[in-house]
Amino acid sequence: MRSQLTKHIFTACMIVFLMSFGLIFYVWNSYLARRNLSELRDKALYLSAIAEHNGWEFFQNVHISGQGENTRITIIAPDGSVLYDSVVPAQELPNHSDRIEFQQALRDGQGSCERYSESLLKKTINYAVKPEHSEIILRVSAEKDTVWILLFRMLSPMAAIVFFMIILSVLLAFFSTKTIMKPINQLDPENPDDRNIYDEMKPFVRRLIFQNQQIHRQMDQLQEEHKKQDAIRREFTANVSHELKTPLTSISGFAEIIRDGYVQEKDISHFADNIYKEAQRMIVLVNDILKLSRLESGSFEIQNKREEVDLCAVCAGIRERLLLNAKRQGVSISCYSEEAEIRIMGIANLIDEIIYNICDNAIKYNQTGGFVRIRICREQSEILVEIADNGIGIPEQDQERIFERFYRVNKSHSKEVGGTGLGLSIVKHGMAMHHARIVLESKEQEGTCVRLYFPG
Ligand code: ADP
Repeated sequence: MRSQLTKHIFTACMIVFLMSFGLIFYVWNSYLARRNLSELRDKALYLSAIAEHNGWEFFQNVHISGQGENTRITIIAPDGSVLYDSVVPAQELPNHSDRIEFQQALRDGQGSCERYSESLLKKTINYAVKPEHSEIILRVSAEKDTVWILLFRMLSPMAAIVFFMIILSVLLAFFSTKTIMKPINQLDPENPDDRNIYDEMKPFVRRLIFQNQQIHRQMDQLQEEHKKQDAIRREFTANVSHELKTPLTSISGFAEIIRDGYVQEKDISHFADNIYKEAQRMIVLVNDILKLSRLESGSFEIQNKREEVDLCAVCAGIRERLLLNAKRQGVSISCYSEEAEIRIMGIANLIDEIIYNICDNAIKYNQTGGFVRIRICREQSEILVEIADNGIGIPEQDQERIFERFYRVNKSHSKEVGGTGLGLSIVKHGMAMHHARIVLESKEQEGTCVRLYFPG
């Protein structure tokens, strides 16, 4: 920008200088022309007075010297023949009756004409006067001082002036650029101030200020987000450690009693069963943690391809797998679909996991004689999988939080029924991966209805 600006200012200076130069020459040239003519006329009048007084022959006897190398006197008879000429012998000159200044003088007493002399390659001005009481015409000619001739004569001072102008233009361009650029250079992009800047740049600076504020706000938000994520991660680690520690402590305790011989032979299988159950709980927990971390890191999506999944078949399969469990709890489980097949694009085992977790919860948090109803249907542009139960329900204040990791309404009940507190977190992540949404409706002691809306 700086060099561009310098270039533009330099060009502008040069244009102004050259135009001023041209105009001055033009004015000067017309002034010179007028002065030349008036000087010539004065000369012609003086000389005509002399000729009138002394007779034209006077000039023949007078040797004109020092008259200036470019002034020529000619005396012409009324018929146009040259009687006398100060430069060329009169008899060598042709008849002058066709000369305009001669004709004008003959008619009006005075006449002038400018001519380009091919023999001299110069422009000459001629002034002719007819003395009042004489029959002759006196003509004075002079070379015209054109501005070009003067310029040529003044070539070296002119070159010096042009050189000076160029230097001046360069300096002007340089310092003007510096002055113009100063407020722009002083602008601190980190901390812009619109007070000392040009009006034209104010919108730009204000935009900069606005963007800086936005960046700061976003950075603050990011930091906040980062802090939140950090807190969640720390909480998760603490929760995981705690969740793992409980079964490990039990396993360690049971093993210790057996090792120290405090358990009777007949009770060993009971203790081994406890150890087995705690180990199973840990396996389930670790599996859920792994699943969740794979979902969060995005590796799940990379490892599992999206394909066409028939939701009716998936739900029917889940019902089959949960039937025995449901029977043990005294809960009936049914599956109903309006169509034989309803397909969506998705990750098959993740969709299975999502629906399984919700159906499993509907059985786990139910009462004897309760039901679980699965329904699959199309709803406008979406596909709905609805899992309704008439179990214990979820208190209103807990409904938003049950999708958080390790959040359980009733911790001991959840543990009793083999819950890890991670099932609904997996559901939430899995649904987001399918751009699907969850709607939860629940009433304590009445039941829960979970609706999964998949894009059709
Ligand atoms: P969990 O492994 O404990 O079941 P989830 O994340 O699957 O963990 O569920 C979180 C909590 O939400 C459960 O502990 C339970 O308190 C509550 N919950 C989930 N589904 C139901 C339901 N159908 N009826 C009543 N409570 C439920």
